[in-house]
Amino acid sequence: MFRSVLASLGLAAALITPVSAQEAPTETSEWRLVIHGGAGVILRENLSEEQEAAYRAGLEVALERGAAVLREGGSAVDAVQAAVIPMENNPLFNAGFGAVFTAAAEHELDASIMDGRDRNAGSVAGVRYTKNPILAARAVMDQSEHVMFAGKGADAFAAQVGLELVNNDFFDTDRRRRSLEKVLKSRERTDADRHGTVGAIAVDAEGNLAAATTTGGMTAKAAGRVGDTPLIGAATYAQNGVCAVSSTGHGEYFIRVAVAKTICAEMELAGASAKDAAQSALDQVAELGGDGGVIVMDADGHYEYVFNSAGMYRGMIDPNGFETAIFEAE
Ligand code: ASP
Repeated sequence: MFRSVLASLGLAAALITPVSAQEAPTETSEWRLVIHGGAGVILRENLSEEQEAAYRAGLEVALERGAAVLREGGSAVDAVQAAVIPMENNPLFNAGFGAVFTAAAEHELDASIMDGRDRNAGSVAGVRYTKNPILAARAVMDQSEHVMFAGKGADAFAAQVGLELVNNDFFDTDRRRRSLEKVLKSRERTDADRHGTVGAIAVDAEGNLAAATTTGGMTAKAAGRVGDTPLIGAATYAQNGVCAVSSTGHGEYFIRVAVAKTICAEMELAGASAKDAAQSALDQVAELGGDGGVIVMDADGHYEYVFNSAGMYRGMIDPNGFETAIFEAE
């Protein structure tokens, strides 16, 4: 599958072979990119072979776009941005086109990005017309003296810096409309399609870390509700020499645990491993009643996927190869 995706991108696939997390040697890797495409009730029996292949292909495109930046010596922050854009544009993922509907049958999108070099960050909350919210977050970081814009002002800022705007119904898809109808009918909190988010973390050839996260939020969310995704320290954090984190899950709980910063603080101050720090933050999320997952990378590029949901779309690429996974046991 990866080979065919690469071929369609006009790239040579022969050099790239899958590796497992355990086999990937961090010391020989000059750069590395890790992504997620959302966590939730993702069970093998609920995904057809075609659906699984489509998700894996979507992850592979994202990995390859980010890797193309890193291979050329580009920065981690450019790589995480490049990786999440194709997922924002892919209706399979709950970000950008194909984002979930609010209870008012509209779309309100959140995104954030952080550069570990100087802990500069940018985010937008509740944008309705910006085609690629991650580009708006990046523009906030690079082209304003602020960190976060919300609502009308965020879309206006995106327009001002020349980003592509679309009508709100550009983000509509039948699948998400069906999810909205189902959730409104049942108020089923664990519906497989209720949430999802995409994110990326990376270390570049110079050892810089970065993180990006972007989402449509949760199906049938109240108008104006903002989740963890645009909040630096909740869903996104990057600090050179310490960590990069991007999370996905039930945002209300991730905000209350300040998941991304909590993980980085445990690693920095208590010397915890990426895995232990992530597990401890997710345990706190679970104690409060939430579920979801994180991707975490330490200063050496060692990475972990940690989640307490039934599955998480995820993947990694570095000079030694790539991997993708969806279900819990893979
Ligand atoms: N964290 C997102 C939110 O609460 C949703 C998700 O990641 O599934 O808006």
